[in-house]
Amino acid sequence: MCSSPGAGRRAQPPPRFWRKRAKKVTLLERTGFPRYHIGESLLPTVVPILELSGAKRAVDSHGFTKKWGAIFRWGGVDTVVDWKEMYGEDHHAWQVDRSSFDAILLNNAEEQGVNVLEGARVERIDLSEAHPWVRWTDPEGVANEAQYSYLVDASGRAGLISAQYHHDRKSNEAFENVAIWSYWDRARPLPGTPAGGINSISTEDGWFWVIPLANGQWSVGYVTHRDVFREQRRRHATDDELLEHLIDAVPAVRELLAGGSRCARTRIEQDYSYMAGRFCGPGYYLIGDAACFLDPLLSTGVHLALFSAMLASACIVSTLDGTVTDEEARKFYEYGLRGTYVRLFTLVANMYERRADPQYYLRTARRLNRGSASSAEDEPSVRDFVDLSAGLADLRDLTGDDRWTRAVVDRFAAQAREEQVNSPHQPGTTPGGLNFYPVHSVPFDLAAPTDTGEVLQLVVDPALGLRRRPDGRH
Ligand SMILES: Cc1cc2nc3c(=O)[nH]c(=O)nc-3n(C[C@H](O)[C@H](O)[C@H](O)COP(=O)(O)OP(=O)(O)OC[C@H]3O[C@@H](n4cnc5c(N)ncnc54)[C@H](O)[C@@H]3O)c2cc1C
Repeated sequence: MCSSPGAGRRAQPPPRFWRKRAKKVTLLERTGFPRYHIGESLLPTVVPILELSGAKRAVDSHGFTKKWGAIFRWGGVDTVVDWKEMYGEDHHAWQVDRSSFDAILLNNAEEQGVNVLEGARVERIDLSEAHPWVRWTDPEGVANEAQYSYLVDASGRAGLISAQYHHDRKSNEAFENVAIWSYWDRARPLPGTPAGGINSISTEDGWFWVIPLANGQWSVGYVTHRDVFREQRRRHATDDELLEHLIDAVPAVRELLAGGSRCARTRIEQDYSYMAGRFCGPGYYLIGDAACFLDPLLSTGVHLALFSAMLASACIVSTLDGTVTDEEARKFYEYGLRGTYVRLFTLVANMYERRADPQYYLRTARRLNRGSASSAEDEPSVRDFVDLSAGLADLRDLTGDDRWTRAVVDRFAAQAREEQVNSPHQPGTTPGGLNFYPVHSVPFDLAAPTDTGEVLQLVVDPALGLRRRPDGRH
């Protein structure tokens, strides 16, 4: 949350990022860190974003497993995602325990000059004025209220603005999934997995993840539709028993875990995919899970959270310094984040739709990444799949040439309209059918330029912000 007045400024000399775009920021967090969180497998886009935020060195030196890619064993066929081979040494990510990772990020925020208030639960927001009001209670239960220049809703799936204020969050029946997972003390990856890589293994009804964390621990989880899950759960006395049964039924996963034992309790969480109706409005932006959540198949959650945080920050600082108008910044954000989400969603939906046919999603990847005219023309492309699933296409398209995004988003919006008319989803049918959000309601018109006919672009050098692209096409 950003405030113009407010306390919390620190006495020591400001670090680089603070000097660059000094804004007073107050962060209200209802819990105390560290705290448990799921979401352990990261994508390479987090590296430059963490560098920009000042947190990269601390994350790098913590000792998390370095991740160089993945294997998707889909329909029994392996797609190897090897970032080092494809992009070079500097393209890696980490497998993290989120309690440590999130605590590093929170500490970093404080070091950068943010006024961090833990145990501060936001109770109410009021967006009726140009600048939002926020009411929160501190750990003693004392109520506080303040007005801010901008409110950034980073409240995760609680979704203060969309789920609780606008009530405009839309989910999708085909993606009402449930995840069940725990931790193993020993396991091994599929042969050929790039160092530190995740394995995602499809089954008839869902898929497994197997993630090597630090200190020899492995995170192992299963995702399936809630109806299938309910049925499976009824047949088992405990969640531990259910997870072990699910693993036993899939030889590939069973073999990876042979010789290891479960070393933590089994957890269960809903992982319904959804998208807010509005990602921003006058005086506010939604980021991360507060804006949209995508099934974890491609490990996109933290990527989307950090990516949207970076976009929203760029929009706010460039509005405050007068580079863009408030309206221009908001259009840029709506287009950029929604296009990013819809594209990733489409890829994941295709993977679910035809679990037995890996060529299908590799063909879709090519269309999504290059905007080619129709699936009939497309060759399956691992390269395009890796570009998209690593999040790198998202960075490319908002910082540079976004022609592909525009072409793809427009085409898929049209296709989705058609598919919705021709084959509306029948609740209760086999989960996994491709069923888009009503993307025809998505404001893709940001492809239209600013009022002055230029195109906006995200820049990080010499400082984070938006730039009017001089070579605008319109
Ligand atoms: C089963 C499963 C597996 C996943 N696996 C992966 C993965 O491998 N890789 C990946 O990248 N992502 C994964 N994700 C997604 C990932 O967990 C999220 O996308 C990511 O944590 C979103 O970050 P966020 O900052 O938006 O929200 P969060 O990390 O949830 O942070 C929200 C914060 O807001 C605080 N808050 C909420 N309400 C209030 C309030 N009223 N007042 C003050 N503070 C409040 C919360 O305490 C919390 O700290 C997975 C998700 C699921 C469900």
